Amino acid sequence: MNGYSNKTNVKPLHIGFDDTDSVNGRCTTHLSYLITKTLLERFQVEFLDLPLLVRLNPNVPLKTRGNGAVCLRIRGRSQTHHERIRAEIAQMIENYSEIGNGANPGIVFYENDTISNDLIQFSENAMDSILSKQLAIKIAKNNNIEFIGFGKEYGLVGALAAVGCTLNSDHTFETIAYRSEENLGTHRDTDWLRVKKLSEETYPYTYNNFDQKNFRVLITPHGPDPVFCGIRGEDPLLTSYFLKNLCIKEQLDGYMIFRTNQGTNLHLTREKSVQEIMPFMSGVINCKVISTPLTIKGGHVIFKIKDKFNKVLPVAVYQPTGLTKLVSLLHPGDRIEVGYGVHLKSENQLTLNLEYLIIKELVKTYEEKNPICNKCLKNMKSEGMNKGYQCKRCKSKNRSKEKLYIETERKIGCGLYIPEPIAHRHLTKPINRYGMEKSFDRLEILNIIKTIKWIEK
Ligand SMILES: [Zn+2]
Repeated sequence: MNGYSNKTNVKPLHIGFDDTDSVNGRCTTHLSYLITKTLLERFQVEFLDLPLLVRLNPNVPLKTRGNGAVCLRIRGRSQTHHERIRAEIAQMIENYSEIGNGANPGIVFYENDTISNDLIQFSENAMDSILSKQLAIKIAKNNNIEFIGFGKEYGLVGALAAVGCTLNSDHTFETIAYRSEENLGTHRDTDWLRVKKLSEETYPYTYNNFDQKNFRVLITPHGPDPVFCGIRGEDPLLTSYFLKNLCIKEQLDGYMIFRTNQGTNLHLTREKSVQEIMPFMSGVINCKVISTPLTIKGGHVIFKIKDKFNKVLPVAVYQPTGLTKLVSLLHPGDRIEVGYGVHLKSENQLTLNLEYLIIKELVKTYEEKNPICNKCLKNMKSEGMNKGYQCKRCKSKNRSKEKLYIETERKIGCGLYIPEPIAHRHLTKPINRYGMEKSFDRLEILNIIKTIKWIEK
């Protein structure tokens, strides 16, 4: 069920926007924080869901930093109230965005009790494919959705996909803290020991906030943008508890809790055959290893796979994933499942960049040895092709003996392997989330909105 209706006859207003930021700073989540403040303070609207932070296909080349879009689902007092809200938001987005500086924003406004199926479908496709602005506009028109684009209007795709993302299965939360104007561009001072301790204390209900293996703080970005830090986890109370106990020294502007598809592998849900694979898609493939993995310059590893239709593609595993040593132990014949992003290499060669690996079945491997002399119990020497063997010690010959194949130990096991946190995309499901996938309960979300402080201004 994806209904948002209630007893009033005012239909919910779903607001989506994307691509408001550029490499020079600014951030779509920060803009959504400013807009949410305005909606609560000036317009006193009711929120029907937490603000949604929707990450789209991370393998699309046209993106700024995170490829994240935002959706706000609200209800105002009346139709005319909604009209004033739309005008205000459009103005805020235009004023804030780095239009002409790398940002190509898109905004959509959708008034409906439910989310239409073609919109949901569009959103699902936006997680693992490349969608055109033209298709977004067509679907917007079919659904009577108001859309506004600036610059090249790339943001329309993400804006529409965010509105279509009901997030009614697995999801996570992120509490994002924002800096005040005067601190922008300065060093973010965090106490790494606190981050480490809080991440241990809240384990496994928070994730990717501290890299225990490499002792790295993962909550702070490094650019000039207004995000001080983001705490990712399973429970909005815990992510906010984590933030409050960090004892951040600088004066923050505030924070907001997002419901998000981060950490859910939503881009790696659909299996495609090699034939269907196109550049910049994301997906899953069950296949067989058909070449011995080769380590190339930089420590990266390449091997070839074949799908069930005997189509062949190379798989690349990059050094920072921390999986190169493991995959170099794969052997032709091994059955594996790969989560991947499709990249284009030179000469238009499609390559699957590995995002997770499941080893399903390992073939037996053998070492080849010459037969053993019956008298001396030593390996004999080959006399040449089909000429049999001779013992070096007693010189006895034997034409009927054959080579020995001795089973060797496989130094890897079946199972799931994922990259190190440092190599994670926003959508990557971390290892401790496997088995923790959440179901969705609208009443529970409404209860969160009513009972916890999800925005601090
Ligand atoms: Zn011998």
